[in-house]
This record gives sequence, C-alpha cells and structure tokens, in this order.
Amino acid sequence: MSHITIVGGGISGLVTAYRLAPDHQITLLEADARLGGCLHSTTLAGAVPVGLDTGAEASLYRRPETKDLAAELGLDVEFPSTAHSSRVLSKGRLHPIPKRTVMGVPGNAAEVRDLLGEDVSDRVAHEVITDPIAGSDVSLGDFLTERLGADLVDTLVDPLLGGVYAGRCRDLSLASTVPALLPAAREGTSVLELVQSLLAARDAQSAEGTGPQPVFMSLVGGINRLVPALEQHIRELGGTIHTGTQVTSVQDEGDRWAVATEDFVVDCDAVVLATPAHVTKDLLAEVAPESASMLASVPYASTALIPALVEVGDRGLEGSGFLVPPTESSFIKASTFVSNKWPWMRERIPEGTALIRMSIGRYGDGPGGWQDCEDDELIARAYADWQSIADRRSDRLIAAEAHRWERALPQYLPGHAETVARIDAEIAGIAGLELAGSAYFGVGIPACIDRAETVARRITLSALTHTEDGHTQQKEQE
Ligand SMILES: Cc1cc2nc3c(=O)[nH]c(=O)nc-3n(C[C@H](O)[C@H](O)[C@H](O)COP(=O)(O)OP(=O)(O)OC[C@H]3O[C@@H](n4cnc5c(N)ncnc54)[C@H](O)[C@@H]3O)c2cc1C
Repeated sequence: MSHITIVGGGISGLVTAYRLAPDHQITLLEADARLGGCLHSTTLAGAVPVGLDTGAEASLYRRPETKDLAAELGLDVEFPSTAHSSRVLSKGRLHPIPKRTVMGVPGNAAEVRDLLGEDVSDRVAHEVITDPIAGSDVSLGDFLTERLGADLVDTLVDPLLGGVYAGRCRDLSLASTVPALLPAAREGTSVLELVQSLLAARDAQSAEGTGPQPVFMSLVGGINRLVPALEQHIRELGGTIHTGTQVTSVQDEGDRWAVATEDFVVDCDAVVLATPAHVTKDLLAEVAPESASMLASVPYASTALIPALVEVGDRGLEGSGFLVPPTESSFIKASTFVSNKWPWMRERIPEGTALIRMSIGRYGDGPGGWQDCEDDELIARAYADWQSIADRRSDRLIAAEAHRWERALPQYLPGHAETVARIDAEIAGIAGLELAGSAYFGVGIPACIDRAETVARRITLSALTHTEDGHTQQKEQE
C-alpha cells in the first residue's frame, strides 16, 4: 500500500484523498484550522438555523462531477427556484438578464434590445467579422468588443464572467473561459452564428430529454456540505487528516518524498499539491523550477462576501439577485437573494425576512478600496449600496458578516491553457508528484473535482505499475 500525502484540504485535496483512500495510506495536510478552502458556511451567529454558504454557493448541474459525487456521498441535490430570475444593473436600473445567450453573447441581437436599446442592439446585429486570430488564444473581452461592440461586453458579458472569476473579461482568456466561442475567433467566422448553433443544440438536447435541465445545483445547508461528508468518508476509509498544519517544503528523495510542516515531516511515496498557484510555486521552487516560475505568472483576484439576514416585512424581494457591471459606479458587484433562489433556505427562515449575499471586489482593484475597510464599514457600505440598487430603503439589517477571500480566484489570462500544458508536461516527468486545484483547467467545483479524480486515477495506475514491476523483478531474481 503506497503512502500518499495531499497538501491542501479544499474540494480538490478532499476529493483526491477520498478517491485514493480505499487503496492507499492517506495523509491530508491543511494549513487552515478548518477544511473546505473556498467552501465554507455561517449561521450568522445563530441568526439562521441552517448554514449559509459564504464562498461557493452552487455547482453546475450540466456537468456530471458534482451531482455524481453528491449521490455517492448520500447527499440530496437541491435546485434553484424557477419562480425567480436574476437581473443586471444598467444606467442605474435593473433589467432582466437575457436568457438566450452564451455568457452574454446572443445568437440574435433582438435578444438584447430591451436591455441595451435600439442603437446598441443594431451594432450587435452588424457583427464585424475579423481575421482568424494569429495565435491559439486571445482576450475574450477584446475579441467580442471588436466583433459586437463595447456596450454588450461592458453591460452583459463582463458582469456574467465576473460572477465566475471576479475578473474583467478584457483580461481573461477566450480559450480558457468560454472555449465554445473559440472556433469563431480561430476560423474568422461569425460568433453570432456560432451562438445560434450552440443554442439550437442545447434546445435539441432539452427536447430529447424531459425538458430543460436545471443549470445549477446545491445541497440543503449549502454546497459546503460536501466538505464534512468527504471528511467523514476519508476518515472512515482510514485516512489521516491534520488541520492547522501548513506545509513548508516538499523534497524529492529519489523514490520517496519528504513533506515538511513546522512540527513534523511526512515520509511518503507520492505527493499531491492541491494548493493555490501562489503556494504551489513556492513548494515547487527546487523540485520543478520551470513550473514554479510559470505558476508565479497566474494572478489571483480577492473578493469579499457579505451574507446578511434582512427584515423585509410583507413586501417580499423580487428575483434571485442582480449583477453590477464595472461601468456602473457601485461598491458591490453582485447580490444573490439566497432565500428566493433556494427554496430549502426559504422554508427555514422566519416570515418577513430574507437572506441575501452581497459580493465586493474584482481583479485589478487598486489600493485604497474595499480591502482597506474594516468589516463594519464593508458591511455598512455594501448594504447601503444594496438598498439603493434594489430600491429597498426601508428594509432593516438584522445580522451580517464580512468574509474575505484573499487571492482565492485564479485569473486565466490569454495563453493560460498552453502554460498549464507546459506545467503538466514537466510534472509528468517527476515520479510521485501531482498537481490539483483551481489554477489549471477550471475554477468551478466540477472542474476541480474532475482534475482531482484524474490525478487520483494516475496515482493508482502508477502505483499498480510500480507493484507489477516490483513483482516482475522479484520473480526474475527468484
Ligand atoms: C467567493 C467565492 C465564490 C465562489 N463561488 C463558486 C460557485 O458558486 N460555484 C463554483 O463552482 N465555484 C465557485 N467558486 C470557485 C470554487 O469555490 C473554487 O475554485 C474551488 O473551491 C477551489 O478549490 P481548491 O481545493 O482547488 O482550492 P481552495 O479551496 O483554495 O483550497 C486550497 C486549500 O489549500 C490550503 N493551503 C494553502 N497553502 C497551504 C499549505 N502551505 N499547506 C497546507 N495547506 C495549504 C488552503 O488553506 C485551502 O484550504 C467560488 C470561489 C470563491 C472564492
């Protein structure tokens, strides 16, 4: 039985440990006092009787990874309410988010006319076809601005993408963030026509099945419930978990690895680094210096999340929340009306109240902004902004907390996929070393699970090959 050390107890490290635990001796080392990384919850000091996510709050249901894992762990999946939908702020007013788009890009310009007006939707309709891009990737925002105009990008694409990456779409890679649109850039063909065909394929899929599938899922108590379920299974399978244990170095000792913490060193057969790129780069500095320097070039965004319980009286909230484009002068960049979005939450809070989340911060925020505010000021400014945008000036704040996510969301800049391919190629040449986490092929929970499961499969396969080689050598000696 091989001994595998996993560094980092976010969803990536936990899934890697869970998949390896049946066949290997597992040691999982987590720097923080709690497991879960970006998955965490609060009850607002007991103001709500059930946990409310303070980090990730949903997972894509269209991908199989999270729903399959939840089923395996015995967790029941919950879906967002279909009675509410989200809005976007434009010129100081909230508008419904157009539904038939791919990350804000419509197949038909008429879809965005109500939101953007006649002139802008005319510009969208008259797509400027550009030459095929020179390399393999391009900035998503720059590409779409050239094709369809800046207004569509600023008002719709940027806030939608910002909701996933806390980034700005002019900084981000087309290939890594919305790869479905890449053929139009590479071939110099119409992006509107491409979106039309993508939406038609989605319609056909829905028609074949039992109607439209929910896009997102969660769990009662929030998507963070994956964390205790995984922890319990890892422990039951004999895995060892140390929290409050920061890994300070990783040494390649021939066919063994030494993973050092401040208090002890773990001697093991293989190590998985499931840490953010800015941590992984330090741990790899001696072992894989080229990968370390490539990882140093992956920037991260910091954000803050303010969950709050609000007294709304008998004038209930409308909708499931709103997005705020960076072109609007607002302190918050989005809000989710949690108790409207998730029926399981609505059922558990008192009549006349609502639960909301307000998000603050994008990649590239300068100094002197929200990061310098004390928690009380952060909450007060966010709530004042929320009241004004949602037009809810008489709602009373009952309880709120500020949760800061420092350097939590990697920014996939143009060329990211190629950088990751080069990192993976170097690491593949180092026996007993694997990298998992959100820094590579997707920040969403399903992508993190997928990479963790791939890493676990590779380790099991290589341990098997090792054992078979060992048996063969033993037989030859006999
Ligand atoms: C505010 C927010 C909202 C989000 N919303 C969604 C959403 O709704 N849906 C979705 O799919 N995704 C969402 N995401 C993204 C998703 O949650 C993350 O990409 C994913 O959870 C990352 O998991 P991970 O395990 O790779 O990394 P992390 O969760 O960052 O875990 C890494 C772990 O490594 C530990 N660590 C770091 N250094 C060391 C060290 N030296 N030694 C030991 N341990 C160390 C850290 O403490 C941490 O626990 C959101 C992210 C944030 C921040």
